[in-house]
Amino acid sequence: MYTSGGTAQVQHYDVAVVGAGPAGLSAAAALLVATQGQKSVHIFEKTAMTARGAAILVGVNGLKALQAIDPQLLDGLLAKATKLEGSDRYNMITGEHMEFMAMRNDMFQEKYGFHNALLGWSDITGSLKAALPQGSISTGCPVTAYKQQEDGTIQLLGPAASSSSGASDAEVVATCNILIGADGWFSPIRQQVLQDGPPTFKDAVVFRARIPKPDFMPEQRTKWWVPPTGPNSADSLAVFIPLPGGDMVWQCHCPVAVMREKGLQYDPVVGEASSSHASNQQSSSSSSSSSSSSSSSSSAKERCLKAFESFPAVFREVVEATPEAAITEHGLYQRTPEQIPDGCWGAGNVTLVGDAAHAAYVDGTGLALSLEDAAVLGWHIQQQGLTAAALRAYEAERISRVKAVFGLTAKQAAAMKAGVPQRQLLDERAELLYGQAHFKPLQPVAAVAP
Ligand SMILES: Cc1cc2nc3c(=O)[nH]c(=O)nc-3n(C[C@H](O)[C@H](O)[C@H](O)COP(=O)(O)OP(=O)(O)OC[C@H]3O[C@@H](n4cnc5c(N)ncnc54)[C@H](O)[C@@H]3O)c2cc1C
Repeated sequence: MYTSGGTAQVQHYDVAVVGAGPAGLSAAAALLVATQGQKSVHIFEKTAMTARGAAILVGVNGLKALQAIDPQLLDGLLAKATKLEGSDRYNMITGEHMEFMAMRNDMFQEKYGFHNALLGWSDITGSLKAALPQGSISTGCPVTAYKQQEDGTIQLLGPAASSSSGASDAEVVATCNILIGADGWFSPIRQQVLQDGPPTFKDAVVFRARIPKPDFMPEQRTKWWVPPTGPNSADSLAVFIPLPGGDMVWQCHCPVAVMREKGLQYDPVVGEASSSHASNQQSSSSSSSSSSSSSSSSSAKERCLKAFESFPAVFREVVEATPEAAITEHGLYQRTPEQIPDGCWGAGNVTLVGDAAHAAYVDGTGLALSLEDAAVLGWHIQQQGLTAAALRAYEAERISRVKAVFGLTAKQAAAMKAGVPQRQLLDERAELLYGQAHFKPLQPVAAVAP
């Protein structure tokens, strides 16, 4: 126990994780397996962890990583997943059907052992949370900084609270031996370690919501509304994604330049602060939900309908029918390949996982890369214990992999912009992401010698 401000006692943990997104939850799960449940691992999460209205396609690499951490956890998640057949693409101006793009499920299964799994956000975080001992997460508990102590332990600091004298004093939330920053795009832990500023705003805004699935929506196909020449970063797009269990997610991206043409402003800093990707979002089927805000006084729904006013009625009617409080609006951010540091992304007994370490562009890789982090971190800690050396070995392995993935994504984006056929790059991407993803299984607790 530790004393904060001379009064309240604060808890000491072997490992403290800041952030209970997929990266923090999976890292905690991996460390519990890697340390045979012999070390205390605790997560501090700033939100209340209510369900987020999002659908995630977990790539084969993410599934392989989960298998290495805990095969039972993977089986439980796969039991909830939808096997997506493919995507119907429609012309975003005329609404005309353009093509059906089949998922290469059988080829992936045969070649890589899995096909991609479509899951609800809360199914993923719920399963990961259920794998942790009860009481492993403190919610409503932001950590804004840390302080290295002379005895080698680390103090976790909460937001500064003003004292009666008017002076600001940061509260000590807990102490730990190892600190893992899993605090997403705008990670305060990253800022303290690397001091390299926020990620790059991708000049685009996303609106999304989870709603009960309309009758016309197929179980295993997504519906996309894209430019007649195919998706590109200068244009808007919209998608309906079916989820297992009767809901679906609608999601649409709008470049800021297009929003401006429609008379809509978006301030990326204010927008992120007030309506974060990391904020919580209930399904519309839930009764109490937090409303999203934006950088103007109009509602997210009004802004979405304005931004997508030229889109086909089938899309707009679904947005129109969505309860205001279910809609989230936020900017899109990314760390470019150059923003991934060369040597390490930690210092001493502090490291980073997930978007805090490597915010990917929204291309379906972010969550799977977070699961990869957890598997690799668990492996190095199993080999070298809870040591700075294990953290540096983890970072070295991850940095080369993340740079390769980000490099290929950048190449793909450039090819798409230049109108180059994507086929070969898609194969290259599958080989890199799925074929070259190998994780050593962590030793389960039951396998410990007596
Ligand atoms: C619209 C959209 C669609 C996506 N689709 C896919 C997809 O299909 N496939 C895929 O693989 N990836 C996808 N991604 C990417 C994926 O969502 C992220 O890569 C993934 O969520 C990263 O997990 P994380 O835990 O690192 O970060 P987050 O999910 O952002 O979690 C960070 C957590 O830290 C908490 N936190 C932040 N600051 C603090 C603090 N100071 N103190 C305490 N807690 C804090 C936050 O509240 C949050 O719970 C998508 C992303 C977006 C935006």
